[in-house]
Amino acid sequence: MAQQLPVILITGGAQGIGKGIAAYFLDKGWRVVVLDQDAEAITACRQDLNNPDNLRLITTDVSRESEVVAAVDEAVRWGGRLDATVSNAGIADPDTGPIETLELAQWQRRIDVNLTGAFLMAKHTVPHLRQTRGSIVNMASTRALQSEPHSEAYAASKGGLIALTHALAMSLGPDVRANSISPGWIDVRAWQADAPARLQPLSASDHEQHPSGRVGTPADVAAMVAYLVSPEARFVTGQNFVIDGGMTRKMIYED
Ligand code: NAD
Repeated sequence: MAQQLPVILITGGAQGIGKGIAAYFLDKGWRVVVLDQDAEAITACRQDLNNPDNLRLITTDVSRESEVVAAVDEAVRWGGRLDATVSNAGIADPDTGPIETLELAQWQRRIDVNLTGAFLMAKHTVPHLRQTRGSIVNMASTRALQSEPHSEAYAASKGGLIALTHALAMSLGPDVRANSISPGWIDVRAWQADAPARLQPLSASDHEQHPSGRVGTPADVAAMVAYLVSPEARFVTGQNFVIDGGMTRKMIYED
């Protein structure tokens, strides 16, 4: 009875962390809907995530409400139900240059995709999540908590996402839980549509600077998503979970 399998919707799921989450849930026997604006990445995904019965790929810009409405409608018609919404789509490059030259349009696009996209996904999937007592996971970033220079738009969008998440948790409980994940450095190179056949390995210092001894992987994030959407997390809502190999707990004053 394929209709009875749980269904997860993942935005930005055609590449990077989102694709890793999609692969993880397909492997666990879920039905997976991927929304992504990159049509080429979606085509590549169709070949890589070779599970056509349990996978639906929909080209969507999450910052456009009419596209979100149509995509959610298609997802629920295909899946017959919705158990989890993962708002992971984002413009992942944090560097927008000095504030004095940051164009309003650049600022606005990061807010629109990274933050407003998650609002639109919540707005239009909540009616379906209520029916399954499902949950929302929003992909924030450790950059909501700490910064490098020239990342104002990205940092603000991710900080907003953590706040959106706890507000949703208060409004939607007890029917629907909402949590966010803040990844640190996750190596997504092998999960990109244009990934070269052979990747240069990361350096020893890239790994060793992490208290955990290594850079993160999409599977590390997927495992947290799996916990958060599971019944084991039924007492967990409104929280932000940092997955960064310990980097935000590390003192980095120079000698
Ligand atoms: P990525 O660029 O590999 O993947 C992002 C995906 O989102 C792409 O497939 C892209 O096409 C899609 N996307 C972008 N704009 C979209 C839109 N308007 N509508 C629909 N899809 C859209 O990035 P990633 O590194 O996998 O990052 C995924 C998420 O995790 C992002 O929100 C990012 O900010 C966050 N994050 C990543 C890291 C990291 O180290 N990789 C760390 C912290 C947070």
